Amino acid sequence: MKNLLDLSYDELVSEVTNLGLERYRADQILDWVFDKKVNNFDEMTNLSKQHRALLKEHFTIPFLKLLGKRVSKIDGTTKFLWELEDGNTIESVMIFHPGRITACISTQVGCPVKCVFCATGMSGFVRNLTVGEIVSQILSMEKEEGKKIGNVVYMGMGEPLLNYENTMKSIRILNHRKMGNIGIRRITISTVGIPEKIVQLADEGLDVKLALSLHAPTNFKRDQLVPLNRKYSIEEILNAIKVYQMKTGRRVTIEYVLIRGVNDEISDAKKLAEILRNLKVFVNLIPVNPTAEGLSKPSRQRLMMFKRILLENGIETEIRREKGSDIEAACGQLRLKRKVSSS
Ligand code: SAH
Ligand code: SF4
Repeated sequence: MKNLLDLSYDELVSEVTNLGLERYRADQILDWVFDKKVNNFDEMTNLSKQHRALLKEHFTIPFLKLLGKRVSKIDGTTKFLWELEDGNTIESVMIFHPGRITACISTQVGCPVKCVFCATGMSGFVRNLTVGEIVSQILSMEKEEGKKIGNVVYMGMGEPLLNYENTMKSIRILNHRKMGNIGIRRITISTVGIPEKIVQLADEGLDVKLALSLHAPTNFKRDQLVPLNRKYSIEEILNAIKVYQMKTGRRVTIEYVLIRGVNDEISDAKKLAEILRNLKVFVNLIPVNPTAEGLSKPSRQRLMMFKRILLENGIETEIRREKGSDIEAACGQLRLKRKVSSS
């Protein structure tokens, strides 16, 4: 049995033709799955009974099993808790903006990077998600809500570039006109910064948006927030970003989680502006969502001052508007609910 959601378009076409069906049957199947959210071959009424039976013997189309759903009273942000086939759980989030819906999806069960302010990191790492599990988050949310997702951010649980192949393949599927049909510029990968993978991404020919989670302007400070910084320094990461920009011409978003008394000093803002000076970037300041003792947001005044210093130094900067914090659906608040197996 194969998971149909693991397959690229070309793979599906070849599977279908190998079974003796015409090529265009692949398009019909995809229309049922991606458009109508039908995951049962019996309902695919434009296929013959024999074909349906044959397909059923070869493929499953696993949408995710919903364990729980929470809706923010403040802004309608909806968080989904899914159970995977091996009993592990992940979370995804749907965020409503006027005229568009953004999905925030996960790439791993937990995360091996263990940033100190991130609930996902703190809850450990179990395994990478499969392509089908990444894609299915989108389909399963669309089916649950009866709404079409227009933007995707890879900012849920896990580090996408540490699950590189599956992340890339899922992006191609979500972007494919006959599959997810989500514009490539409406898809964003957020990474903690894996230099060789950032360079590899530049050569993919995929015009996705890239966001880098920087959080500190010096290695001394970043080492304490992002343990992986001891392996990949800020200089190595920013060099990779430079290469990425030379190859793609794209601006990169810099995410900076602001934590009171830790990385919100005036000197941090000045240093940040300095290290970003030669890059085409846009800084997103994110007041931390407190997930552990000792972490709190900077004052409003400090936040505005931090922003002003960056602006004065010619760095485009915005403060990210928080969504879904009352249901722990905001950045860094997704965690493992229960760990069943670590196979
Ligand atoms: N692993 C990737 C993507 C998932 S995290 C990455 O780190 O970029 C998505 C974003 O949420 C990152 O920018 C991360 O730094 C931020 N984040 C994590 N914990 C947070 C918290 N407690 N408050 C605010 N943002 C947080
Ligand atoms: Fe992993 Fe990103 Fe959380 Fe860091 S912030 S622990 S990289 S999910």
